[in-house]
Amino acid sequence: MYRRLIAPGALAASLLLAIPASAADFEPGAAGIGDPYYPTYGNGGYDVSHYDLRLEYQPKTDLLEGTATILASSTQDLSRFNLDFGLTASEVRVNGKKARFAKSGVQELEVTPAAGLPKGTPFTVVVKYAGKPSEVKLWGFTSWQRTPDGGVAANEPEAAAWWFPSNDHPRDKATYDVSVSVPDGTQAISNGTLQSQSSKLGWTRFNWRSSKPQATYLATLAVGKFDITTDTTANGLPVVNAYSKDLGANEGAAKASVERTTEVAEWLETVFGTYPFEALGGYVPNVPSSFALETQTRPFYSPKQFANGSNVSVVVHELAHQWYGDSVSVDDWKDIWINEGFARYSQWLWSEKEGEGTAQELADYVYAQHPADDPFWQVEPGDPGAENQFDAAVYDRGAVAVQALRNAVGEKKFFAILKGWPKVHAYGNAGVSDFVRYAEKVSGKPLAGLFDTWLYQPVKPAASALGALSAPEQPKSWKKIAATNGVHGER
Ligand SMILES: [Zn+2]
Repeated sequence: MYRRLIAPGALAASLLLAIPASAADFEPGAAGIGDPYYPTYGNGGYDVSHYDLRLEYQPKTDLLEGTATILASSTQDLSRFNLDFGLTASEVRVNGKKARFAKSGVQELEVTPAAGLPKGTPFTVVVKYAGKPSEVKLWGFTSWQRTPDGGVAANEPEAAAWWFPSNDHPRDKATYDVSVSVPDGTQAISNGTLQSQSSKLGWTRFNWRSSKPQATYLATLAVGKFDITTDTTANGLPVVNAYSKDLGANEGAAKASVERTTEVAEWLETVFGTYPFEALGGYVPNVPSSFALETQTRPFYSPKQFANGSNVSVVVHELAHQWYGDSVSVDDWKDIWINEGFARYSQWLWSEKEGEGTAQELADYVYAQHPADDPFWQVEPGDPGAENQFDAAVYDRGAVAVQALRNAVGEKKFFAILKGWPKVHAYGNAGVSDFVRYAEKVSGKPLAGLFDTWLYQPVKPAASALGALSAPEQPKSWKKIAATNGVHGER
């Protein structure tokens, strides 16, 4: 929050100017934040700093009721602005006064405040709402998965609109207080730290706080009956893991994987630098999906990730995202390689550490797996298109690109880049071109050609570009890593 300091003379002048300006120059904020892949995602004209969500959820009926209080600031003279939301609003207030509101498009909630908001004004929006998120179809699907004892919001890039109104794009990050009341015996899991928990008249309220900037798709809510394990890391961070009580045969493997979160995070700190957030953990709800997601501080894992036994590699992947994706987030969704190329590469580094195949051996194997006419090589990880945002090439070819960088700049510079990048852009946003410039700066080498070859050409690069072997053996870690290929969100 900041206050504008206005000298008395300037105040008089601005009052005079404000009269003709109020109606004529105030314009609606854009219905999209300006992402070329998803033109209607997010919104223009304002910036959110904090979401306060006070919710109540009934697992029996899937009814979610709530009040969202949003702290924002206008970035233009604003006559009207949009939120992205799929449930039904019953009342909207801006700065305490009732505002007009209307639905438009797929997920737009148009809010017209009683008075225009001059550029640079902090303002508060209160939205009261209700709905059954599993029944709300946006773009033809719901991101809310029902479980036998509750429900879960976790998806990428679309997840928030099924449980709270927001400026739904990674470019507008904010802090969160998520307070959820559920029937006694049921738990509500979200991001960050559990500040408190209390019971009254058969309902238990869980108060979660995520105190570092968080993208909307990285906010998560899971309601159900969980086995919860808690611990504290050597550095004093709270660890909270949660497992549906009805995971059946997958329970052991899920716990044997996710309970290694602290160990994996400690190792990742040696590669990427200090862990960027205030809490750690993971959760495995009894959902039918097969993917995992790097929800901030507390990744989501589908039980199917553990159907063939424990898989620490998926934990490595989702925790690596805490640096590459969560703390440093994409600028536009076309920058997805910044997330996935590095999360996949972290799995290769883990394999290297475990003696199950070096990153070079895994890169060689990926290279040999895909002949030149494989459509795999037509996907450009640096700008894959919305339809290929989570294509295997973004992950595997993307990680080969990281290995090519390692070969080009040498071990010392390479690991300095891996550790430096999350520090330089901590809690912010960045794109692929920012990474290329950063790698050039740290290494002192021109790298545009290398990245063009691996990220932007729809052809298989020459083997010499990687120093690839012609017939590599399958690395020991290959199958476990390939089993995590469904880690991205699904529709
Ligand atoms: Zn990922």
